[in-house]
Amino acid sequence: MSAEEVNTVRLVARLNELGAVGQLQEGGRTRLALTDEERQGRDLIVTWLHEAGAEVVIDKVGNIFGVLTGTSSGAPVMTGSHIDTVRRAGHLDGCYGVVAGIEVLDTIYRSGTKPDRSLVVAAFTNEEGVRFMPDLMGSRVLTKEMGLAEALQTVSTDGALFCNELERIGYAGTVEPWSLLPASYVELHIEQGPVLDSREVPIGIVEGVQGYTWWEVSISGQANHAGTTPMDLRFDAAVAAFELISEISRFVKAEGRTTVVTTGTISLHPNAINVIAGRANFTLDIRDANDASRVEAEIELRRLLNNLTEIGFDFEIECIAKNHAVKFNENICASIESSVSELGINSLRMVSGASHDAQMLARVCPTAMIFVPSRNGVSHNPEEHTETENLALGAKVLMKTIRKMINSDS
Ligand SMILES: [Zn+2]
Repeated sequence: MSAEEVNTVRLVARLNELGAVGQLQEGGRTRLALTDEERQGRDLIVTWLHEAGAEVVIDKVGNIFGVLTGTSSGAPVMTGSHIDTVRRAGHLDGCYGVVAGIEVLDTIYRSGTKPDRSLVVAAFTNEEGVRFMPDLMGSRVLTKEMGLAEALQTVSTDGALFCNELERIGYAGTVEPWSLLPASYVELHIEQGPVLDSREVPIGIVEGVQGYTWWEVSISGQANHAGTTPMDLRFDAAVAAFELISEISRFVKAEGRTTVVTTGTISLHPNAINVIAGRANFTLDIRDANDASRVEAEIELRRLLNNLTEIGFDFEIECIAKNHAVKFNENICASIESSVSELGINSLRMVSGASHDAQMLARVCPTAMIFVPSRNGVSHNPEEHTETENLALGAKVLMKTIRKMINSDS
């Protein structure tokens, strides 16, 4: 192996070693933010960063940074992801981006020439948002999307205070999170969706992240006897809801539209076999990489609801979450593309359907992401898998891209 190459054998071995932390008997692992299991994972990352020649810095929200100092005094180039998990998770998710970042840093350190810009490998605190809400907390605080004090006072689902847990596991650092604000950021991640795997393309160049809105909808009709009420005299909230859900799905499936709409929950009241539903409550998750076309679907939703009032129904609608689409930096996407062509492999331009720390970083610096395929598109599941060959390719693309980033003036 030449000094220019990333050690992909060690990359895979370390992913397995980290994956064994928090392992469950029934398969998978659970390493929720700021638990004892996550502390063990953090300790491994810190050890590996030291071995790679990095100086380790912990900030006040518990983000871990491995710094390889460059010759210029400018802001660093940053890569990384997160090592906290959901419950019963796979072993790749955020870990892949962090561990591959350490391999890249190690390779650059061993090459003996100092980079122009400093290189930082980050493991962000509480990306998943399972134990403490919201998600992306470490990168939110770093980019000042969330106040540090507010983050530290967050209470977990098990009743623990964020700052106490951070102290308890020994990761309450002294550095201000934004003191290492980068000049640019690139994140390597598994796709967590089926596109690359189904098309047999090893690398995704991620141009942005979908925006989304979550709606709670309630349609009211009239509960009545299932036997005595003729069909033309009913105000059946169940039928109204199902028709509306079908209509909005048809709308977004029209040619040229990219929006995806999901009704993941629905409940009928009074929910009895022989009573016409008087009320239907359901959710709509509406996503698109293009905010304007997502808004068009939302306008259509309102039009369909207004139509219902004309035939005797009532409705209530509430937006419970909203995130604008994120557009990544074209120069970094082009850098990734040239790294891919140097390796003589295929790639695909795409948008991410899942949230990532990169979307926070994109608010403060040029940012992009690199995806590798997830077998059958499965993630947040012990079955999560990426072929070793593709894990190696992703790390090589990250290496080449970071080389360009740390040696450019932009
Ligand atoms: Zn992730």
